[in-house]
Amino acid sequence: MTRALFLDRDGTLIVDVGYPRDPATVALLPGAAAALAALPADVALVIVTNQSGLARGLVTPAEAAAVQAEVERQFAAAGVRFAGVYVCPHGPDDGCRCRKPAPGMLLDAARDLGLDLGRSMMIGDKAADVAAGRAAGCAALRFASAPGPEADLVGWAAAGARIAAHFGLE
Ligand SMILES: [Mg+2]
Ligand SMILES: [Zn+2]
Repeated sequence: MTRALFLDRDGTLIVDVGYPRDPATVALLPGAAAALAALPADVALVIVTNQSGLARGLVTPAEAAAVQAEVERQFAAAGVRFAGVYVCPHGPDDGCRCRKPAPGMLLDAARDLGLDLGRSMMIGDKAADVAAGRAAGCAALRFASAPGPEADLVGWAAAGARIAAHFGLE
């Protein structure tokens, strides 16, 4: 079975602008594309992103799709392709099974893509990301783009090294 690196999107892969609805705001965090491009092709890269702006009526489905397409376009230009993209469109009061910290998106990806969760890893900038990863049985680390008290990994140079170590690529 395939190992996966689950990735939160906003604040982890791209600058977090809050309820993103304009592709022009998409900016990759420094070093993210290079770190992911350095991983071997047998590590599946899977985006798992809460987008409650949809439930809140702040973002239309078309806007959300355009933002995601731009994220994928910019990563593709750097040689990075995602095996899956999972979006929770719900709000915190909807009681869904997919909004992180629930592990539904990771479990769906495991089913869809044949992933070995016990050999997989989740990276994200919120406690909910780490909780979702652990609930799915993955290793999980908290990322930050700038130093902070709760971060396990600050910046993509550090994150890339830890991810490579997890997957035995040092
Ligand atoms: Mg985030
Ligand atoms: Zn959901």
